[in-house]
Amino acid sequence: MNFIQQIIEEDNRNDKHGGRVHTRFPPEPNGYLHIGHAKSICLNFGLAKQYNGLTNLRFDDTNPVKEDVEYVDSIREDVHWLGFDWDDREFYASDYFPQLFDYAVKLINKGKAYVCDLNAEEISNTRGTVTSPGTESPFRNRPVEENLDLFIRMRNGEFRDGEKVLRAKIDMASPNMLLRDPVLYRILHSEHHRTGNQWCIYPMYDFAHGQSDSIERITHSICTLEFEVHRPLYDWFIRELEIWAPQQIEFARLNLTYTVMSKRKLLQLVQEGFVKGWDDPRMPTICGLRRRGYTPDSIRNFADAIGVAKRDNVIDASLLEYYLREDLNKRAMRVMGILNPLEVVIENYPDGLTEEIEAINNPEDTTAGKRKLPFSKVIYIEKDDFMEDPPKKYFRLAPGREVRLRYAYYITCRDVIKNSKGEVVSLHCTYDPATKGGSSPDGRKVMGTIHWVSARHALKAEARIYDRLFNCENPDQAMEGKDFKSNLNPDSLKIIDCFVEPGLKDARPLDKYQFERLGYFSVDYDSSPEKLVFNRIVPLKDSWSKSGKA
Ligand code: ATP
Ligand code: MG
Repeated sequence: MNFIQQIIEEDNRNDKHGGRVHTRFPPEPNGYLHIGHAKSICLNFGLAKQYNGLTNLRFDDTNPVKEDVEYVDSIREDVHWLGFDWDDREFYASDYFPQLFDYAVKLINKGKAYVCDLNAEEISNTRGTVTSPGTESPFRNRPVEENLDLFIRMRNGEFRDGEKVLRAKIDMASPNMLLRDPVLYRILHSEHHRTGNQWCIYPMYDFAHGQSDSIERITHSICTLEFEVHRPLYDWFIRELEIWAPQQIEFARLNLTYTVMSKRKLLQLVQEGFVKGWDDPRMPTICGLRRRGYTPDSIRNFADAIGVAKRDNVIDASLLEYYLREDLNKRAMRVMGILNPLEVVIENYPDGLTEEIEAINNPEDTTAGKRKLPFSKVIYIEKDDFMEDPPKKYFRLAPGREVRLRYAYYITCRDVIKNSKGEVVSLHCTYDPATKGGSSPDGRKVMGTIHWVSARHALKAEARIYDRLFNCENPDQAMEGKDFKSNLNPDSLKIIDCFVEPGLKDARPLDKYQFERLGYFSVDYDSSPEKLVFNRIVPLKDSWSKSGKA
């Protein structure tokens, strides 16, 4: 049991919320969701499921300048794709603007909020420091009537942006800087993606978030650690407003090696063209992972496995890939594809003949069945499955050596054909007709099995080979005078031509395959029957393990 489950069980024992568990996932629609959000989604929806509760999807849309319906739509799609559903409980903080306005009025009436004429800079300059108290605003002791009048005139649009704000009257000497008369409302003559021009004052996040939780009768308001210092303020609003009190619980946000997780930075990568969009398969966004070929199960399993922590930590990106491989291994059809083709001519194979070779679709899934592969005189093999002068432990093809072509025949390399530059361009081999199916009746063993495609039948396709987007574990840490973008990996995408078996002609975007011995591949959105395009999801083995790059 993790510490949040312990809190919930304790609450249930004490009948704190009558056994009710109601969580929410509260994104601000100012960017696309990433793998860190996935962690929060799995946690909130997972806990509710475990305790027979409910989860709301709530958009914390209090900043019209940075938000957009494009983001709202993508967030809904991504949460659904991850396998979670909020039924009809889709809410918006902006739906509560009238209620939040009334809450503000209530605080004014209680003498707990005032309209302040200081500008942003002056407010910041009078906040004091961690070691010294702030200075009280000269407007702090305005009478209630005047505050009410000014606040209503703020709402009515009588003032310019930044001319006035509404502040809570708490304690300018509080050791918690957030309690030093925080701003509750600001003037922003800006159109909101949902409320249009109805409002020209907008609540600050802190004034909207907890109250929205309260309005929705959330029991456990789960958020990331940076909000721990906000909790006294969260509780202060609830207490002063005398409304339903959800319990805020903080956990450590997910950090992953080799990536950045700030929406602001991801937005920069998109806007400045370092990636092709939010759903670029190198992005840690959920839509990027989806396009890359990640499965919802792999992400959920990863989120479960890392659990919830109370302390910040960084998770190795290869752990996510571990859960990805585990899932793909179960569900991906095996196929043969050649990334770096080397022609092989089988001299003693009849010229016009095409044979059908039976191949197993997925040894991990007995229901997946078999398929037929065409075999003919000229095939392609992987360039690095041949070495002219092999070292001791190399068991693949070499001059005079016999290997097994997967599911097909034994072949022996007889001749190496080179071009004028001395590069190997073709191998002339012979095959043993008695080894059809890949085994020899005389019990003769071969050390290596390699994959192949029939040159005449293979489909030419595009393969997009991805590497890490950043070339260091913590890209947020940049050299002096540089920013995180200086850590981008210039070789994070390589586009190559490849050959795949003909049965793939009907492959559709997001179909996933294991190219035998090479890795997992997913069909990209750019793919068409005329030109197949594959994203390499991940190589078969963890090439980033400590032993170095394979
Ligand atoms: P911003 O930088 O705009 O504040 P944010 O990543 O915190 O972005 P929100 O839209 O506020 O984005 O996040 C929605 C929810 O997802 C919040 O509850 C937040 O705590 C959670 N969340 C965000 N990033 C992570 C992360 N890396 N790990 C776990 N949860 C996260
Ligand atoms: Mg946030």
